[in-house]
Amino acid sequence: MPERAATGEAIFRGIPVSSGVCVGKILVLGQQRAQISRQEISEADVSRQLERLEQGLLATRQQLHDIQQQVTHAMGAKDASIFEAHVLVLDDPTLLEGVTRMIAEEKVTAEWAFHTVAERFAQTLEALPDDYLRERVADLRDVAVRVVNNLVGHEEAVDLGRLKEPCIVIAHDLAPSITARLDKKMVLGFGTDVGGKTSHTAIMARSLRIPAVVGLKDASHRLHNGQTVLLDGFTGVVVLNPTDQTLFEYGQIEQRQKSFEERLHEIHNQPAVTLDGAQITLSANVEEASDAAEVKIAGGEGVGLFRTEFLFLNRSTLPGEEEQYQVYRQVASELKPQPVIIRTLDLGGDKLPTIVGIAQDAAEMNPFLGWRAIRFCLQESAIFRAQLRAILRASAEGNVKIMYPMISGLEELTQSNELVEQCKAELRAAGVPFDENLEIGAMIEIPSAVMIADSLAKRVKFFSIGTNDLIQYTLAVDRLNEKIAYLYDPTHPAVLKLIKLTVEAAHRHGIWVGVCGEMASDPAMVPLLLGLGVDELSTSPPLVPPIKYIIRRLKLSECAELADFALTCESSSEILTRAQALVSRAAPDLFGGT
Ligand code: PEP
Ligand code: MG
Repeated sequence: MPERAATGEAIFRGIPVSSGVCVGKILVLGQQRAQISRQEISEADVSRQLERLEQGLLATRQQLHDIQQQVTHAMGAKDASIFEAHVLVLDDPTLLEGVTRMIAEEKVTAEWAFHTVAERFAQTLEALPDDYLRERVADLRDVAVRVVNNLVGHEEAVDLGRLKEPCIVIAHDLAPSITARLDKKMVLGFGTDVGGKTSHTAIMARSLRIPAVVGLKDASHRLHNGQTVLLDGFTGVVVLNPTDQTLFEYGQIEQRQKSFEERLHEIHNQPAVTLDGAQITLSANVEEASDAAEVKIAGGEGVGLFRTEFLFLNRSTLPGEEEQYQVYRQVASELKPQPVIIRTLDLGGDKLPTIVGIAQDAAEMNPFLGWRAIRFCLQESAIFRAQLRAILRASAEGNVKIMYPMISGLEELTQSNELVEQCKAELRAAGVPFDENLEIGAMIEIPSAVMIADSLAKRVKFFSIGTNDLIQYTLAVDRLNEKIAYLYDPTHPAVLKLIKLTVEAAHRHGIWVGVCGEMASDPAMVPLLLGLGVDELSTSPPLVPPIKYIIRRLKLSECAELADFALTCESSSEILTRAQALVSRAAPDLFGGT
């Protein structure tokens, strides 16, 4: 339940995942009613309309039942109880009587009658000065939209790429495939009921630089289209009906942000070097060709992670070798001579394609432990080969490197390397140019990969630690589940020890090691990672400047001391407190101080 203030504000609290503040009208996905108008019917049609009404109510009851089950499963019975109130609306005899009477007497369609009578009820309830009844209005309208949509067979399909006016999107969940299409100019921010800091939707919000809050529980059922909210992606708060005082306070935060941004701009062309001279490579994570420009604007030293699976989402056919080649080529040549690390397909988990033939198979009980990433590619070798050939071809036009995701054992690495060799041989035979010395690296994101890091390190030129998955798999914490988000703990001693082991194995074999998971984008984690010996950090483009700012204000020696402490400390919160203290001392203005 939101916190309500006497001023009329209501506050919803969630998990902040992408910084920034926005104010605007909301668009709740899941509440779009089909367009209907009053249509007269003949006397003979009345019984058919009454029958349609029965069917529509039945379908709605079934839908509500299904949703209730899903929400109970995902969030517990308490959160799902909201749908009981919805079912009660469907059983309200006065409402149903009003609808049937209108169909019979005024001779109108079932959808028009339901919409009109429900709206009349809603307006009467709305005029009463009672919070409880106002909540009922929201339920009533929500159900009315469902019934009308069921009556006219309307499937809601809002295209976030074609919105006509700016809005803040609120939804139960936003699949990355939907987020991928959204128009940045029209979507001011978004909030979802579910999700955690490293869900791909959250990562996407950060790379789009859109303020976002996830884990808002049942906000999508309590908020309604057209209401005004303030969404604060710094603290994870959504304020319904913000007062002038609240808007003023947020305006000041925005102002401080702006002057800090100017300071960041001044170091745009400077290297990411610590006060005692340690040079760190600071690169950026990208998802599509047009992101290359952002990497340059942000001052990133190339691409540390190209999440190529986004080229495969939101479409009904596979992108072929040629199409992929054009995308990789464009990024490589735009950023040349800087490196572009292209991660091979990481489909699966929460990135489910809509491509026929793949999507059906992807329905799994535990998608994050299932048919994902390199496992998928090694089974679907035609798809994998097309991608490898496209990457190899692009390597003739820039500094391209290949990186495999989700390596859990040596076999996967050797099999993948064999496929690369086969693709090289084919291209060589056909006289197609590629970089013979193209480097290959492995992501380290599964504890088993850390434990065999020495074997892997002998066969690759670099490691990049995917902390999002490494944390999820080490701590057995689903990275998307907000109920256990408190257990998702980057400073857990086990996670830090695994990072240390990875760095030691890499350095023993003379290869470098980076971090491209969200830990690299978290200010407090930067000194820890540097202290643990990481050579490269890769963040979303907009976070390159603040992370560089922090690096330039730290001494590697103090980072090493912090890491030494962390590796002997038994308490993750103590480690976090020390790490936070170090960054806030080094870069106080990053946190709104001066
Ligand atoms: C990671 O797991 O940290 C990572 C960078 O990969 P992704 O977030 O795409 O799974
Ligand atoms: Mg990963």
